[in-house]
Amino acid sequence: MPDYGDHEATDDPLQVLRHSTAHLLAAAVTELYPEAKYAIGPAIENPPGFYYDFDFGRPVAESDLPAIESRMRRLAQADLPFVHETLPREQAIEEFRKRGQDYKLELIADKVEGNGVSVYRTGDFLDLCLGPHVKSTRDLKAFKLQRVSGAYWRGDEKKPQLTRIYGTAWQTQRELDDYLKFLEEAEKRDHKKLGRDLKLFALDDRVGPGLPIWLPDGATIRRELERFIVDEELARGYLHVRTPDVARLDLYRQSGHAQLYKAYMYPPMKFEDGEELELRPVNCPHHIVVYQTELRSYRDLPLRIAEIGNNWRYERSGTLAGMNRVRSFALNDAHIFCTPDQLMDEVKGAIELALYFSKVLGIDEFWYQLSTRDDVKDKWLGTEEQWQEAQASLAEALESMGQQYRVGVGEAAFYGPKIDFQVYDAHRREFTNSTVQVDFQLPQRFDLEYVAEDGSRKRPVMVHRGAAGAMERLFSYLIERYAGAFPTWLHPTQVVVAAVKDEFNDYARKVGDRLRAARIRVEVDARSERLDRKIRDAKLKKVPYIGVVGGKEVEAEHVNVQNRAGEKVDMALESFVQMITAEISERRR
Ligand SMILES: [Zn+2]
Ligand SMILES: [Zn+2]
Repeated sequence: MPDYGDHEATDDPLQVLRHSTAHLLAAAVTELYPEAKYAIGPAIENPPGFYYDFDFGRPVAESDLPAIESRMRRLAQADLPFVHETLPREQAIEEFRKRGQDYKLELIADKVEGNGVSVYRTGDFLDLCLGPHVKSTRDLKAFKLQRVSGAYWRGDEKKPQLTRIYGTAWQTQRELDDYLKFLEEAEKRDHKKLGRDLKLFALDDRVGPGLPIWLPDGATIRRELERFIVDEELARGYLHVRTPDVARLDLYRQSGHAQLYKAYMYPPMKFEDGEELELRPVNCPHHIVVYQTELRSYRDLPLRIAEIGNNWRYERSGTLAGMNRVRSFALNDAHIFCTPDQLMDEVKGAIELALYFSKVLGIDEFWYQLSTRDDVKDKWLGTEEQWQEAQASLAEALESMGQQYRVGVGEAAFYGPKIDFQVYDAHRREFTNSTVQVDFQLPQRFDLEYVAEDGSRKRPVMVHRGAAGAMERLFSYLIERYAGAFPTWLHPTQVVVAAVKDEFNDYARKVGDRLRAARIRVEVDARSERLDRKIRDAKLKKVPYIGVVGGKEVEAEHVNVQNRAGEKVDMALESFVQMITAEISERRR
């Protein structure tokens, strides 16, 4: 499909509407800022809407958007038709030159072949465009300008910086209202905001971008997650190890990462004697070294080496996002070394484990992507046959488990294809949480072997798998999933005990001690505050249980328990302890 650099021609009515609204935005901008140059203005799918890039020649901020938007409404009401014309090249150039539209002139020079130049006119506004569009500006009824950001002309950091205005547009006002409400809700759940409000984690420029600090409550949640993950893996026959965060660069030369994964790796630390140490971008070679600490026999296989291992990856600062995309993260990683005959069962076992973690953690919505290689040479290791075999075993594992999947061509790891579990954040942005990868390459590069039943030396297959993903990314997901109201087993404060009056604080402390002795995380609020104030503060922290005590409770050794749904029940202290202990040990949601 030919395009003029801003969008591919599409008949999808919503995309047409959104792209037409981008024209309307540019028309309004050129009326209000006659000196502004307009660059490109496509419809976009995520977030649903459109943008237009402008060179205003001066700063324009979000506070300028209402005026632009009201000019857009005026133009919409004026019922201006979108008129398509094909101009001779020279005339098109003359039209845009007259208007001082340098970016359009550059696009004509680069993108337009032949003599006919397709343009659209709405009133005085002229845009270089292939269309299609709505019939008239009056068809644009439900739109809103949202924000302003910077963008480089043609995405090139060496080219001029433009001002990008984002907006959204819908068929009806009702759809627009629903969408804006969804956004508001997503904003409330945003993990960066909640992470700050609930004091879960911090980012500090002095430490560096993308290097999050887990505050005490966040660290508590992480510890619970890690215990849960490690215990479950041990029960499933994984062996947990600890390996260093750095290794000699040569180790990654041998694995191929230094060559094929270089863009994500930090520059090596060089020493005077020539030694080079590298912050590890992945755990794979370290686990291979674990495998090679002994001569392995077929009886040792499958050997499942696991670690919640710190990885260091250089992500460009523009792509960093709270805890979701960071430069240092702890991956729930494992490498399974097995015989080719065991491969299918191991792949299925890894998928089952990821499904189990998802169920307990409340990851209800996800889909599978089978990531395969494309035809670009020198991007991949290994032969066509090995890839076909690995891809077939992943597809077969999913199919035999009755799971649907999509195919992502060119998104494999350099050593083999993979299954990615894709999930969404509160803004419906998609990301990979867990992954299962089949690899014939690294066993070859490291000359891995095991003693087969007949005494011969054979090569194992490797499965790389991340079941619960990176702790940081999982945490960002869980914060948004629960909007801070974590299940009791994860919540940093499981119970707040508050006395009706100060005179009952001694009993409140006694209740606290009893709960603490049962390993329940409890906070006794003994401040000289009114009870409703204490309850309000506990609710702000989304604490699962508030135990209120007064004269009656002291008398009977009871607690008046209030849960997050606001339900209240009076119960014996011991029953309360038992109830919470059961809920925690079963990791109920
Ligand atoms: Zn257009
Ligand atoms: Zn790996």
